[in-house]
Amino acid sequence: MISMCEVYQARKRIGGRVHRTPLVHSPSLSREIGSSIYLKLESLQKTGSFKVRGAFNKILSLTQMEKEKGVITFSTGNHGRAVAYAARRGGERSVVCVSEHVPTYRVKAIQDLGAETVVRGRSQDEAEAYYHRLKEERNLCEIRPFDDPLIIAGQATIGLEIMEDLPEVDTVLVPLSGGGLLSGIALVLKSSNPSIRVVGVSIERSPAMLESAKAGIPLRVEEKDTLADSLLGGIGMNNRYTLQMVRDLVDEHLLVNEEEIALGMAYALKNHGLVVEGAGAVGIGTLLTRKLKQPGKQIAVLVSGSNVDLPQYLDVMRKYLSKKYEEPI
Ligand SMILES: *Cc1c(COP(=O)(O)O)cnc(C)c1O
Repeated sequence: MISMCEVYQARKRIGGRVHRTPLVHSPSLSREIGSSIYLKLESLQKTGSFKVRGAFNKILSLTQMEKEKGVITFSTGNHGRAVAYAARRGGERSVVCVSEHVPTYRVKAIQDLGAETVVRGRSQDEAEAYYHRLKEERNLCEIRPFDDPLIIAGQATIGLEIMEDLPEVDTVLVPLSGGGLLSGIALVLKSSNPSIRVVGVSIERSPAMLESAKAGIPLRVEEKDTLADSLLGGIGMNNRYTLQMVRDLVDEHLLVNEEEIALGMAYALKNHGLVVEGAGAVGIGTLLTRKLKQPGKQIAVLVSGSNVDLPQYLDVMRKYLSKKYEEPI
């Protein structure tokens, strides 16, 4: 398993290459919920999501020979973008496999960073299958999106920052898909103080990790359209790290629906002037509809990304900015 030592090494390795993002107090959310609520703004991170932490930690750890081969990954968008960015900074070649489900604006952002994109399959799992083939055929070095100790340790550096900025934190809400983000943060928080409550937030439309964690084995779930498309995809049928870590470290799971995601996005814009993508808004969404029972005193909410399709985003904002969360939707 992964130790705190690896998290500190990750911080040293990626320091200076990624932002130390702010943890901001939300007076309005705090008033509404009756707890002190803070937002950890990885939406302001380089490339628009936290994924650049893990990507840099992994790529900077490769040997010279591996770097020369070039790297390959598969992604719902943000991880691919982060890998493309980190690889370009190091001068490595990168290939990103995506499914047909990944929106064009995300594919374009990856291409704009100099990566080669390969669109294959109707789901993340199918894109992953093609990635394995291509990796062998072209002898490329693999960068997994979440199930890798170096990726997890990179995302875990967020946990160090939360503990430093809010040592009295008692609850943390983290979006959950493949579980690299949640495993890393939970590892740090639980090591610092086992009584901190770690809550994973999954999407109702495709809760692959939650279903797998309940079953104790990786399960495939169907991918459905969602505003939180960065949370789509399975956990990998050969999952080695994140499933076990989520089972060991997470205290509680919440599910969000599409309305809650939209409300969370609109809330972030209206009250904080922040553009947040669906996946990044799930924590705020669950708070607004009071899904978190017995909220603690000091809550940190991970706002994980800001990469939106502007026309779709503006449509959602037009519809939801004026909606109050008390009203039936
Ligand atoms: C990847 C991603 C997540 C989920 O991270 P996992 O490590 O796959 O659980 C959450 N939010 C955003 C914006 C992401 O890009």
